[in-house]
Amino acid sequence: MKMPALFVGHGSPMNAVEDNDYTREWQRIGKAYKPKAILMISAHWYTDGQKTQDDKHPRKIDDMYGFPRDLYDLEYPALGDKALTEDIIASLPESVVVDNTWGLDHGTWSVLIHMYPEADVPVVQLSVDYTKKPEEQFEVGRAIGHLRDKGYMIIGSGNVVHNLRMINPSLDGPDPRAASFDDYIEAAIRSGDFDQCVHYLDFGDAAKYSVPTPDHYYPLLNILGAASTGNKSADNSAKINVEVFNKSYDMGSLSMTGYLFKD
Ligand code: ZN
Repeated sequence: MKMPALFVGHGSPMNAVEDNDYTREWQRIGKAYKPKAILMISAHWYTDGQKTQDDKHPRKIDDMYGFPRDLYDLEYPALGDKALTEDIIASLPESVVVDNTWGLDHGTWSVLIHMYPEADVPVVQLSVDYTKKPEEQFEVGRAIGHLRDKGYMIIGSGNVVHNLRMINPSLDGPDPRAASFDDYIEAAIRSGDFDQCVHYLDFGDAAKYSVPTPDHYYPLLNILGAASTGNKSADNSAKINVEVFNKSYDMGSLSMTGYLFKD
């Protein structure tokens, strides 16, 4: 069965131990699909050059500071999947380095602990290579997209709007720039205009506010590439089967919007 390409807005690591509207949506999606393994692209493995891993037992990385003990005590003992690692390496035209110094970071486990609480689906992370331009991020996604046909789910974990310097816990709704950029991206995705998402900086000030650094945005471009496979022409609008979920905001400058591309 062909597996979806999924983009998740992961937000605060606290979502790992909470039961809220976001986590319930992640649970729902996890119940709907049981992939052979997951290819996970987390914003938090942000590297010079593309990296992946082939550890049989990838360790949990606690890459966050000052959170309650519960988060550090959590375990997520998913196995790796060597066959998937080999498929990833074979799919990408440029060299990919196997690096087992990383494991499963909070962009991965805070979401998967809700989708697959038994940790019974193997996981292999692919890093976000910050030396690649937005166009190249999209191409990485295109190159791995065919793995969905082999029963692997491809997940990108980041946030469309992620500006930690501007967070304001007293804000109930989004900053207007956050909302306008999030709406702009949603409209582009629904219409199949992925190119507009690649050239997101064309949107001007609201794009700069929403994506001050591209670490949390690039996983979306990877997923759009993976969602576009099979569409050889630029006009792929007729084929977009996307479900938008968790369109909501935390602390004004974080959007939690997720995209599930079903085929
Ligand atoms: Zn994050």
